[in-house]
Amino acid sequence: MDSAWIFQHSFIDGQWLKGEGEFAVTNPADGSEIVRASRVSPSQVEQAITSAQRAFKGLKTTTAEQRSEVLYRWYELIMKHQHSLAELMTLEQGKPLAESQGEVAYGAGFVKWFAEQAKRSYGEIIPASKPEHRISVIKQGVGVVAGITPWNFPIAMITRKVAPAYAAGCSFVLKPSEHTPLCALALAHLAHQAGFPRGAFNVLLSDDAKAVGEQLTASETVRKFTFTGSTQVGSQLLKQCASTIKRTSMELGGNAPLLVFASADLDKAADGIIASKFRNAGQTCVCVNRVLADERIADKLLAKLQQRVAKLKVGPGTEEGVNIGPLIYPQAKTKVNELIDSALQEGATLVGERQSLEGNFVAPVLLSNVTSEMRISREEIFGPVLTVATFKDERQALQQANDTPYGLAAYFYSQDVAQIHRVAETLEYGMVGINEGLISNPVAPFGGVKQSGLGREGGHQGLEEYLEEKYLCLNLD
Ligand code: ADP
Repeated sequence: MDSAWIFQHSFIDGQWLKGEGEFAVTNPADGSEIVRASRVSPSQVEQAITSAQRAFKGLKTTTAEQRSEVLYRWYELIMKHQHSLAELMTLEQGKPLAESQGEVAYGAGFVKWFAEQAKRSYGEIIPASKPEHRISVIKQGVGVVAGITPWNFPIAMITRKVAPAYAAGCSFVLKPSEHTPLCALALAHLAHQAGFPRGAFNVLLSDDAKAVGEQLTASETVRKFTFTGSTQVGSQLLKQCASTIKRTSMELGGNAPLLVFASADLDKAADGIIASKFRNAGQTCVCVNRVLADERIADKLLAKLQQRVAKLKVGPGTEEGVNIGPLIYPQAKTKVNELIDSALQEGATLVGERQSLEGNFVAPVLLSNVTSEMRISREEIFGPVLTVATFKDERQALQQANDTPYGLAAYFYSQDVAQIHRVAETLEYGMVGINEGLISNPVAPFGGVKQSGLGREGGHQGLEEYLEEKYLCLNLD
């Protein structure tokens, strides 16, 4: 890894600022320390907010076209350095290099998309009810935005917030995950090379997320708060945002079901399940969390899954041919193992083997005879564990699929057209993959219902999250 990409201080007002104290950023594949990052101080957090406010005022005088050009340059720089950024991501996050390359392109895709959308923040002209009135609605950037992002997608979770914010003319103060701050710093470095003005994109490093979160949410200057992470933390942050009535977007936890109906093409279903389940070692909020299969085809499907699971290779993300990298940290592995143990105690059956590996690595596990009541069906697994439960009919399948407080992504495989419409409409989820296991895409609105969140990222909707509407009433008399 080229050390030119390893930054260690917060990026505030266009400068690298050393904080107070340090914390280690480690490689999850071997536990080695990559760098000691400096911890931002409370006064530096304030400085970042003030500089973002200054930048926001400056951005108000820019045109959408100018912001679009800056974003497009940022996109080109990210793609130019795709390989270095992917290496950096695998180093601090662990995912296989090919997946990191894919995420860099996916993350850059949001920048390109919002470079295009920047020019489309159209307002409205409304027919007035009085002859002397002219009524219009204009859209303007909401103001200073603060965001907190997780470690599972160290680039894409950032670009899909920062790019639409900038497109809308907003400045940004970001606190990335303490586990993956290096990708965030590299992104800020490239954004400034692309022409982001000073203070338009600040990155605060800290392993005290609670303290930084409290400061950002309490600030009256910050007008919008956007978060991706667990439902528990999101709920707490929403409460904190209430005191200053901020706009909020929340991308929270999920518990994605994947339903396989009797008419499904089972090979395609098995491929879709593997792709969705084991991406990022199972650590994504839209990963299939539970497969629900029609009992008439369940055994056939299980056999196909077992064949595919047996071929998955676990190892460091830098190794050729690896499909599953390490989990992010030791506690993640402990939690996944606890979920497997509890499922086995509750009556699930292990299909194939359960290998024990060193370090943060977890070998893929396939469990059958799982039921909806088991803890493993109710919690987000966030690891390479595939569970299969069965249903008798469509009604029972939908009842089981919707029986969760979450509502992010769901998937199903069917070749019955009427059923496809019925099931898609009845699933209580923000996103539904139909005969498809991978649905994330910058052009489409990503987001959840119920306790999976508020708001949408990507699509034309993603820009609206950073725009306020202003109604103008002009009297001609
Ligand atoms: P994950 O399980 O994906 O780490 P979290 O919700 O715990 O999900 O973390 C997502 C982000 O939220 C990370 O950047 C983390 O530092 C931050 N975070 C965790 N706890 C808090 C908190 N109490 N207040 C603000 N941010 C937090």
